This record gives sequence, C-alpha cells and structure tokens, in this order.
Amino acid sequence: TRPGVRPPREAATHCPYCALQCGMVLREAGERIEVAPRDFPTNRGGLCQKGWTAADLLDHPDRLTTPLLRDRPGGDLRPASWDEALDRVTAGLRAVQERHGRDAVAVFGGGGLTNEKAYALGKFARVALRTRHIDYNGRWCMSSAAAAGMRAFGLDRGLPFPLADLGRADTLLLVGANPAETMPPLMRHLADQRERGRRLIVVDPRLTATARQADLHLQPLPGTDLAVANALLHIALTEGWLDRAYVADRTTGFDEVRRTVAGCWPAEVERLSGVPVADLEATARALATVDRAIILTARGAEQHAKGVDTVTAFINLALALGLPGRPGSGYGCLTGQGNGQGGREHGQKADQLPGYRRIDDPAAREHVAAVWGVDPAALPGPGVPAYQLLDSLGTAHGPRALLVFGSNPVVSAPRAARVESRLRDLDLLVVADLLRSETAELADVVLPVAQWAEEDGTMTNLEGRVLRRRALREPPPGVRTDLAVLAGLAARLDAPGAFPTDPAAVFAELRRASAGGPADYAGVSWDRIDADTGVFWPCPDEDGPDTPRLFADRFPTPDGRARFRAVTHRPAAEPVCADYPLHFTTGRVLAQYQSGAQTRRIAALHRAAPGGFVELHPDLAGRLGVADGEEVRVVSRRGELRAPARLSPAIRPDTVFAPFHWPGAARANSVTNDAVDPVSGMPEFKICAVRVEKA
Ligand code: SF4
Repeated sequence: TRPGVRPPREAATHCPYCALQCGMVLREAGERIEVAPRDFPTNRGGLCQKGWTAADLLDHPDRLTTPLLRDRPGGDLRPASWDEALDRVTAGLRAVQERHGRDAVAVFGGGGLTNEKAYALGKFARVALRTRHIDYNGRWCMSSAAAAGMRAFGLDRGLPFPLADLGRADTLLLVGANPAETMPPLMRHLADQRERGRRLIVVDPRLTATARQADLHLQPLPGTDLAVANALLHIALTEGWLDRAYVADRTTGFDEVRRTVAGCWPAEVERLSGVPVADLEATARALATVDRAIILTARGAEQHAKGVDTVTAFINLALALGLPGRPGSGYGCLTGQGNGQGGREHGQKADQLPGYRRIDDPAAREHVAAVWGVDPAALPGPGVPAYQLLDSLGTAHGPRALLVFGSNPVVSAPRAARVESRLRDLDLLVVADLLRSETAELADVVLPVAQWAEEDGTMTNLEGRVLRRRALREPPPGVRTDLAVLAGLAARLDAPGAFPTDPAAVFAELRRASAGGPADYAGVSWDRIDADTGVFWPCPDEDGPDTPRLFADRFPTPDGRARFRAVTHRPAAEPVCADYPLHFTTGRVLAQYQSGAQTRRIAALHRAAPGGFVELHPDLAGRLGVADGEEVRVVSRRGELRAPARLSPAIRPDTVFAPFHWPGAARANSVTNDAVDPVSGMPEFKICAVRVEKA
C-alpha cells in the first residue's frame, strides 16, 4: 500500500439473513463491496444466493438516508431533519400517553435485530415508555418450539447441541423443515450423515427439495403432525423400544403419555394423515433401533394453533427413546430468523426480561431493575403476544401509537389486511427501517437506520452460539443506528438510566442483566467470541467453559428431570367445508427471505424468484380447469390472493401452497388464519380452508 493510501477494508462477519448465520468476509473492491464465504462451523465455507448478494443492498438506490414525515393523514411522506423527526415522535408519544395512559404506546421488534438492539428495545419499552406492550415478529417464528422446550426441558435453546451433531446421527427426522431451500449450507451436515450411510426421514405435505433427498418421505395432511408423532410413540412402545432406564432416571410424567398414546392406533392415524402404517413403522424403527437419532422440527410443525402440543408430541417421542443429552442424539428446533434465538432472550418478548427471565418473577424484576437503575415497582408487567397486540391497535382498549423496529407486519402478519387496517387506525405509527417497506409506507414517521455491515454487535444463531457481527464501514450520512435512535428518543423522553449508543457498552450491560438467568451471557465477552468460533450460552463465568451441548446429566428443571406431557390431536382451527374445500399452507423459496422487503430489491434474487405463485397438484388443476401459469384466486374467509398457478405433483392434491414473500395481490397472508396457539401465541400460518378459482 502506498503511503497515505488507505488499504481496502475487510470485515469477517456473518450473513444478515437467516439463523444459520453463515460466516462471510466483506471486502471493499473499488466502489463495490465483495462477499466471500468464510469457513465457519455452521456453513463450512458455503453460502446461499441470499448470502452471496447480501451486500447489494448497502448502496441500493431505495436506501433511506433521511427521516420522512407525514404531515396529515393521507398526505405524502416528506424528507425531514432528525431533530424534527425525533421531536415529532416524542410529542406524539407524550400526547398519546397523557391522553390514554402508558400502555397506549406499543413497541414491535424483530428477530433480525442484534442482541444489543433487542436488549435496548426491551429496556426502552419498560424504562423510557413504561409500557407493558412490547413483542416481536419472532413470536411467529419459533414461539411454539420455545414454549414446548421450556415446558419439557425447563429451557429453550433451538438446538441444544452443535450443528455438527446432525452429521453424527444414525437417523435424522426432519418435521416441517426444508433447509435445502431455507438454509442450504446446512445440507452439508446432512451430507456427512448420508455419506456414513445413515437415514434421513422428512415429514412434509410437500415433496420439497429436502424431502427429495430423504430415504423416506412422510407426506401427511397439514395439521396432523401431532397424530403422526403419537403414532410413532405408540409403535415404539408396542415394539418394546422404550428406554426404560432413561425414562425412570431422567423424566417425569410418562405414565399419562403411555395411556394417551395407547389409543393412537397407527391405522387410524393413517386414515387421518394419509401416512401409510408401513411408513410409520419404518420411521419408528429407524429412530428407535439405532445408537444415535435426532428429531428436528421447524415452522411446518410449529405454526399451528396446536403448535406447542405438536412439538411436545415429538419431544415425548425423543424422551421415550432416551435421546436428549446424548451426543449425536436429541430433539431440536431449526430457528428461522437471523437472531430468532438471541432476539427472544433479551427482553423483546411480552413476558420476558433479559436473560430469558420471566417479567412476573419478583427476583428477576429486582435483578434487572438494579442493572437498569430503576425501581422494580416501576417496571410494567407482561404484555400480550404479537398478533393479539397488533389486532388490538387503534381499538377502544388497544394501543394508539406503535414503534416498529426491524419488522414488516403488513406482509408477514397473519390475516394481514386486518393488521394493515389496524395500523392505519393508529394516532402515531413510527417505523425504523433501512427501506420503505410496506409497513413504512403507512407510517407517520420513518427513521432511516444502519445496515448489518455498518455496525458492530452480536447475534445468537440457531445453536445458541453467540457470534460477532463486525462493521465494514460507517453508516452513510443521514442514517443512524437503532441504538442511536433509541438513545435520542430516551433523552427526549427524560428516561431514567443510560441508553448507550456504543454496542460494546450495551453488550457489557446485557451481560450483567442476563447474569444468573437461564440464558446467562455473563461470561461471554467480545474478545472471547473473537478468539474462537463463538461462545455457546449459558456461559456464566468468563474463565469457565461455555455449553455447546445441554442436558448431559440433568435438565434445568427444579428436580433435574425432563417433563413428559400427554397431548392429543385436534383438528385445525378452520376445517375444510363445501365452500372452502382445500387446505392452504405457506412457506418460503430459496431466493427470498421473510417479508421480502430486502431480498425483493436485489436484482439477482428478483430474477430467480420474481413473484408469488400458487402451487397445486395437476389432478386438482385438472378438476379446476387451470393450466400451468394461469392466474388463480385463492380465497379464504379473510381475503384472497391472486398469482399464477404452478402445477406440481410434489404437493398433495387436497392442499395448495403459496410463498409469503410478496405484498399486494400475491400476499399469501391475506388468506392465512389468525387463530393462535393458547400457550405460545403462534398463529396458524400453516393451515386454513380455501377455495381456488380461475382469476
Ligand atoms: Fe445467509 Fe442463511 Fe443463506 Fe447462510 S443460509 S447465506 S445465513 S440466508
């Protein structure tokens, strides 16, 4: 490098998108920023299309670089200074709270925010706004598995073992998971498993890219996974495959489960789900008669109004076979969003404080309030889950103002048209985003915030591994970090306590706040993360070990034992009928991510997946007189979507599928059901009743 010439910058960081958090290197290359894969234990040198193109958004022409204000309802958004925008937000929040009370303001976060931002957002809601209303879009991602894990194991960590364990499993059962499309580099671990001649079994109503690689594909009717799990356990017990010693020494509650699954006859489950008894038997045998077996669930099993019980049924199966706690064995959930795991540990959830503590636990309140420098009595109580919160906005008893950080519920919420109308009814909607998302388009104030390559921080991936996100460059002029936005608002609101803008300072505070909690980060320092390939929580002591594998000797329950819980199948919240005779289910495609606000703007991804579609079986299409590519309407009791038909024998003839990444006419969530799981608050994204017509 010549004297006086700055060398090109480089940052070893992670992909901004999904929970695999693939390692990548960002490099300045003239005017461009190049992405290169980095060998990391999760991606082992691989990236998917989304990762390769992630830097294309950094200098995208749609990037927001100035705050926007709307002066009157129905008027246009206009550029404004930061002072004017933050003053407007502060005045609006104050006016709403003075008129309607503190809980009239709500905060909605995102599973893509760093740990530092998730923590700061939770603190801002509880300390600066003193509202009980905060929740986040991760509620729609992993909350059913989280609640089931807490119930059974006393702890929720998506994978309680390192990802590399997948390659060691003799049998791997994937339920409602399609990593070949959603997180392709994960398939490298499955390739290890297959090279060793081991079995992969996939449960999915569609013959997905992942199911095509399976040794056995079970294709149940959507919403019948719970019955399938109970039938598998029924077969295991009948065949004498119960791990008696494990059940006796390490669990409680088995007798009731035994009684319940005794009535789950495989032949009846075949009639209900469509999965042949022979396949159920082969699956049970493959899980129960090997040394190491892993059961993984994802959104297909979890996004149901009985999602918690469905996951519980698979956990029951894993416990009965003695799997959790042994290397290369166990139960886990494949978390979806980039910081879906960390985002739920630091206070964004309606019922939680940092460290995965319960907000209604007096000891937790005292500990966190001491770190925050406030009176524990001043902290609000628990709020309500995400959909319930959004559905109450602007109503007689709901919040009248909402701050959204890192989320686009106009596209991603169930029954999205209703959520959109609730947002329109607000007195004040503030959106912090890097782009004019569909939700930002409705806002009174839009605050432009930094992107992933422009700020430091930490993320916690699907394994519970805490990672370092490293900045390559400063945010462009006019753009602030989310932490700076929160600090600016807290100062204007005269909030007690400190709201640092330096992510390292926020992380130091997060460590103290989480100390002693279930998700203990006290021993996780940035230096320690840098020195290795991340740190697995819990890690209470900087000089002590972290915890890559949980549950080896005991479960973190009061008696150290895992808890069985008897669960039974129940029908979907909205059964099919003469008017709506088909099942509708949703999911993702390889080239798009979540609501698509970012990936739809990336040219290469748009070329690969330019718009929504409706997948239907050729037999069904024949009955409807629909040709491939012809536009169809999918109509439910809540709304409709219009998109071209994509004929495929990969889907059951009684079920239609649409990806949920697109707004407008192709918005799949115009159709989905807002029935929620009573324990987790998870909406029933994965099944509702529809009819399909030629458009
Ligand atoms: Fe990014 Fe996930 Fe793709 Fe990896 S798999 S490159 S983390 S989107």
